[in-house]
Amino acid sequence: MKMNKGRLIVFSAPSGCGKGTMLAEILKNERFRCSVSATTRSPREGELDGINYHFLTREDFERHIAAGEFLEYAEYCKNFYGTLVSEVDSYLEKGINVILEIEVQGAMKIKQKRPDAIFVFIAPPSIGELTRRLRKRGTESDEVIAERVSQAAGEIAMAEKYDYVIVNDALEDAVSDFFAVIRAEELKAVCSGEIINEVLKNA
Ligand code: 5GP
Repeated sequence: MKMNKGRLIVFSAPSGCGKGTMLAEILKNERFRCSVSATTRSPREGELDGINYHFLTREDFERHIAAGEFLEYAEYCKNFYGTLVSEVDSYLEKGINVILEIEVQGAMKIKQKRPDAIFVFIAPPSIGELTRRLRKRGTESDEVIAERVSQAAGEIAMAEKYDYVIVNDALEDAVSDFFAVIRAEELKAVCSGEIINEVLKNA
């Protein structure tokens, strides 16, 4: 049976919502890949260039903007973050679902450019729990944590613009909700044209 194109999935979660752990589980499934974004922020301990991000200088980032190589980009907490077109389209053609792990401003730009993308927002159980998780991570100063928590509150208020909201209270449940969402999207009648043709052809 002919394979459908992959789906573009916009996956947004404020810092500290456990999206890294969720994505690690999701990416065990080989039908999914995460686009590697470009950023001007410095690598955190353990982060690798080309794996976690393409770490660029501001100058290089601006060169990619001028060359029209970004599907979207945004400034977040004083750094640039962006999705390169080269990270997305060739994989969708091969039937791979591509996840964009991006913040809300970038997500809204994708909504205009790619309205067929699936928009999934991951929320923490509460703002208190989010603050506790960020402190436990220990990678940011109190000042940066306060900035990220206030940013998170603003982002959570935008969650209703997404197609789906998943609360990450228990990892296993959140991951299984994610796969349920994607499966339901794949089974939508509007995506099944090619499948229906095959069914009718095979008498
Ligand atoms: P962090 O610095 O914690 O890795 O990421 C900060 C924020 O930037 C997160 O909300 C993350 O989703 C977002 N982000 C990462 N890559 C991109 C991107 O390519 N485009 C946009 N718009 N946001 C991104």
